[in-house]
Amino acid sequence: MNETKKTDLLSLLPSELEELVVSIGEPKYRATQIFPAMHKGISPDAMTNLGKVTKQKLSEIAFFYLPTVRRKLVSALDGTIKYLFALSDGNCVESVVMKYKHGNTICISSQVGCRMGCAFCASTIGGKVRDLAPSEMLGQIIAAELDSGEKISNIVMMGIGEPLDNYANVIKFLKLVGHEKGLNIGYRHISLSTCGVVDKIEMLAKENFPITLSISLHASDDETRSAIMPVNRKWNIEKLLSACKSYYKTTGRRISFEYTLISGKNDSPEAAARLASLLNGALREKNGGESFPIHVNLIPVNPVSETGFSASDKRAVEKFASILEKKGIRATVRRRLGGDINASCGQLRRAEENG
Ligand code: SAH
Repeated sequence: MNETKKTDLLSLLPSELEELVVSIGEPKYRATQIFPAMHKGISPDAMTNLGKVTKQKLSEIAFFYLPTVRRKLVSALDGTIKYLFALSDGNCVESVVMKYKHGNTICISSQVGCRMGCAFCASTIGGKVRDLAPSEMLGQIIAAELDSGEKISNIVMMGIGEPLDNYANVIKFLKLVGHEKGLNIGYRHISLSTCGVVDKIEMLAKENFPITLSISLHASDDETRSAIMPVNRKWNIEKLLSACKSYYKTTGRRISFEYTLISGKNDSPEAAARLASLLNGALREKNGGESFPIHVNLIPVNPVSETGFSASDKRAVEKFASILEKKGIRATVRRRLGGDINASCGQLRRAEENG
């Protein structure tokens, strides 16, 4: 049976599911039974309150699929779990479950591969294969909860792929994951990370999801940024920061900046000072206007064998952070979870593909 011609049930909002059940001659209330069950990982076929005939009619026009665990690595250091999930067409994506005092966080993927071409990133090496459906983003969370037995309360969209390059599906995913009859995860507990797709940042500001935006900045001048992040050739730093400012003004949500420190490329004290002036100049209001909360996350680059980049040493990282702090910018060095299982995304999928 060709599943591609069938409707993907887990990608449907309650109103769409209602239309679907009515179209096969079932009462509307079936949707209110099926929607919450699916979001707990129960397929319509396994539901005890649906009759055989209903299940048969549903399976003729629609399918329910959850990602399955292809590989699973558990950190002996901190309990971080890294999953390689197989999708219905055999493609794989990665998700990471991290345990923090304030609750469990999952890092999910938004595409199979990526077409943004960042020079230091493992996810983009083979290009983009395809976008993930809303159900496949949601499915990573449901499958991880089922497998780990852990309740997940926070989501970061920082796995494989560029979420804003899969805009419509990501928006639908946000509607589904925040739905009160589904996982009901509050938007304030969701972060979306982007390399800087400016037109979509502007669209997202208008959607009114109070999520946190993370900007992968990684450089403080256009020449360096364009060399490591091709997206900068389309939207330079000035355009990106101006979009950030209007995102903040529209949503009131803080934005955090990711800065991956690569030895000899972007980690000099001059680069730090330039970054501070850049952010202060672009985002801080003069004359007593409302100040934009600026937070920079410093991440020593995770070496990927194909890229040849190496991480800045501890002293360079500390110096970089202290220069930012002195200029009034909050900087944290990302604590590395799951260091023993290579928990950064993209590498497990590549290892699996290369056999
Ligand atoms: N496409 C989105 C989200 C996925 S990447 C984005 O670019 O933000 C999540 C974060 O990991 C980004 O900040 C990305 O730049 C960073 N990253 C990618 N490869 C890395 C590596 N080898 N070491 C450290 N950070 C990396």
